[in-house]
Amino acid sequence: MEQGKSGMDIKGMNRKKIYEFLRRSRSVSKQDIVYALQLSLPTVTQNLQELQEKGLLDTAGKIGNTGGRNATAFTFISDAKVAVGIDIQKHRNTIVVVDLDGKVIETLKKKIDFSMTDEYYSKLGEGVREILEKTHTDPQKVLGVGMGVPGLISGDGQEVVYGRILNFTGETCANFSKYIPYRSLLYNDANAAGFAEIWSLHNIKNAFYICLSNNIGGSVLLDNKVYEGDNQRSGEVGHMTVVADGRPCYCGQYGCLETYCSATVLSDTTDGDLGVFFEKLKNGDMESRMLWDSYLRYLSLAVNNLRMLFDCKIIIGGYVGSYIDGYMEQLWEMVRQRNMFEDDPEQFLLPCQYKTEAIAAGAALPFVAEFFEQI
Ligand SMILES: [Zn+2]
Repeated sequence: MEQGKSGMDIKGMNRKKIYEFLRRSRSVSKQDIVYALQLSLPTVTQNLQELQEKGLLDTAGKIGNTGGRNATAFTFISDAKVAVGIDIQKHRNTIVVVDLDGKVIETLKKKIDFSMTDEYYSKLGEGVREILEKTHTDPQKVLGVGMGVPGLISGDGQEVVYGRILNFTGETCANFSKYIPYRSLLYNDANAAGFAEIWSLHNIKNAFYICLSNNIGGSVLLDNKVYEGDNQRSGEVGHMTVVADGRPCYCGQYGCLETYCSATVLSDTTDGDLGVFFEKLKNGDMESRMLWDSYLRYLSLAVNNLRMLFDCKIIIGGYVGSYIDGYMEQLWEMVRQRNMFEDDPEQFLLPCQYKTEAIAAGAALPFVAEFFEQI
């Protein structure tokens, strides 16, 4: 029995290797796979056949080779499976469909006020149906629906264990997915966004993702996985004290990073419009400049603390992260001045890749990652 089990494991590993190789190479001949992965021709043939039966590769193309004959090209089908992600916010939802490359192939934005009502759950179901119809997606292709919410989530992704922002502690995935006919899971929004970043940056395994939106969140990513902590409370960088007895925070404490670096610190000066703030900053408005300098000073302090603690890449995301590209030099310099090692901030402090759909995409991507694990 044991031997049979390990035989299955090797078979599964070979299939995973071949599928991964196909994903990276996009289109290859059987011989290319045999040569690159050092597997036998019968092994490769059998696995390709199985992948084809599952509808995961296409054999319509030909690849020219030096022998004069054209070999069959085995081509990766990026939309053979898809996953849906929803970014659930107080006054709007963003719904995306991502393919097996993690690419956002469709986005739907809905203005809708959050409420724990049947009407709201039914609208979530409608949104999912609408985006899948728009992308002409066969329901069989849907791996699952992930929902990124501003709250702390139980380890099994089924319940909100702390949700002060939407006042929805105790809310369940079963309610959210009442009208969604696919496997569904809840994710903390910052963890989802952090996962999306790690996914898009193939060469990074460890990172701390800071989500600078109307509230501050954070995500600890170790070895390509979210580290949630013993109580799913890791990465709550917004409530790290940066000024002893400083500004009062909604959490009841004083001097939290939240009160110095949330996006609202900036957008409160422009009627809630962060874009207008950055426009004024770009146009040389003095007050905006002073506020921004002080904002970056606190941010550099937080970044330095995180770097000292984790010794990993730090990614600036969230609403402010989507505008940060032009200001990285200034932030790098501030961080450099605080760093006691000779670390180069340009190497470890990065702007986010996903500028707008990080939470929604990041809530969908774990289904894609799981699919590759189980292939
Ligand atoms: Zn706080």
